[in-house]
Amino acid sequence: MADAWLDMTPEGSWPWEGLVPGPQLAAAVAGVDPRDLPGQARVSLLAARESLVGWAQMLAADAMVATADAVADAVTDAHGLTTLQEGWIADELAAAVHVAPSTALARLTTARALTVDFPSIGQAVSEGQLTMSQARAITESLNSLGVRRDESGRRLTESVLDQILPTADSYPPARLRERVRTAVVAIAPDQAAQARKRTVREQTQVNFFTDAEVGTAYLGIRGSGVDILALRNAVRDRAGSMQSLDLDADRTSGQWQVAALLTALGLLPTGMPASAADAAGADADPPAPIGIGVQVVMDLPTALGLAENPAVIPGYGPVDPELAQQLACDGEWRRWVTDPIDGHLLDDGDRRFPGARLRRFIKARDPRCDMPPCGRVARTDADHTPAYRDTHTTSAATMSTACATHNRTRDDAGWVAEGEGRWRSPLGRIYQTRRHQPLPVQTSPDLVATDDSDPPPF
Ligand SMILES: [Zn+2]
Repeated sequence: MADAWLDMTPEGSWPWEGLVPGPQLAAAVAGVDPRDLPGQARVSLLAARESLVGWAQMLAADAMVATADAVADAVTDAHGLTTLQEGWIADELAAAVHVAPSTALARLTTARALTVDFPSIGQAVSEGQLTMSQARAITESLNSLGVRRDESGRRLTESVLDQILPTADSYPPARLRERVRTAVVAIAPDQAAQARKRTVREQTQVNFFTDAEVGTAYLGIRGSGVDILALRNAVRDRAGSMQSLDLDADRTSGQWQVAALLTALGLLPTGMPASAADAAGADADPPAPIGIGVQVVMDLPTALGLAENPAVIPGYGPVDPELAQQLACDGEWRRWVTDPIDGHLLDDGDRRFPGARLRRFIKARDPRCDMPPCGRVARTDADHTPAYRDTHTTSAATMSTACATHNRTRDDAGWVAEGEGRWRSPLGRIYQTRRHQPLPVQTSPDLVATDDSDPPPF
């Protein structure tokens, strides 16, 4: 569930609580020694001081844009130059803040995005609702829409922001980037499909170089995301089944994957310790089907061809509807269909040890470790939250996902799962996680699904 989380701790009575970032808040936190405070209040002070960082960064951004404008005016007036303007601006800014000119330009780009192009995002940073990293995740993912407008003349970026901003504060930057990209595909699906085809054509290539000194060589392939993802999964699957034929072989998992590729092409590995599995692998007939274990998640109307909404490949990101419909027709891709209204998968099961079907459902519904800041997807399993000793029930409603580390250690560390995505930290802060949407839906601001009684969609 921990795609996102919010701090729900009730406000205390510390002098900085309830103040918006600004000189008054700065004065309230400046002289405080956090070591004099109990743990929970230290978290509160930390959050207040962090919000001042965003406020100060926006003040600097404003000054940076104004300075750049002044340089532009100066060099244009004196020399009539226009083409070198950005270079002069970069030099002036870089000299002032002691960074490389390229860094100065990157900072200026962000500053312009937050003050000129998307002032509502800049204001959210200034007011402490978003961090600078969250703001950058949003603006950078909006770039591809450029200045396109809808029929009524409204900029498409504005429509995306209307959907994203109300819940943006609860998402870490990586999840936020994915949500914005999905919204961008949703609002301009044809453009996304065209851009994908062009980029795939331009960037598909095979690279090879050798490092004879240490006896290795590198072969890198870049191509359409769905093809390379399917290939990677097929190589891993094949490597895993070859390894299971010869568990004693002196090979790393990387070597098994190279062996899987070689034998699939009818070649025998000679640069690594021999294994009887190679011959078995080379003789395997027919080769393992490509695409096993690769999923594409789309909503029902798109699966039926009635709508053009974006789809998501878990672990990869959003894809445009044209490609999604191609994949849905391809029997080798496993297709999940979600509720078009809330984007959630639904409920199942009622036993102490989750059955295979319930476990599979839990991992599909909550792919990430549920501990608020963790979000791991590797090495996770279905887990009772709250603990089984507190509920004595096993169902989708009392379970979520935990990574191996947190499953083992979180009780000792003092993290308490209170159920329905509510967590208490060792210092007593309360966090509420948001339920994962396999296919992000932007119009559902509820923190968690309140109705778990719907029948499962399968
Ligand atoms: Zn974890």
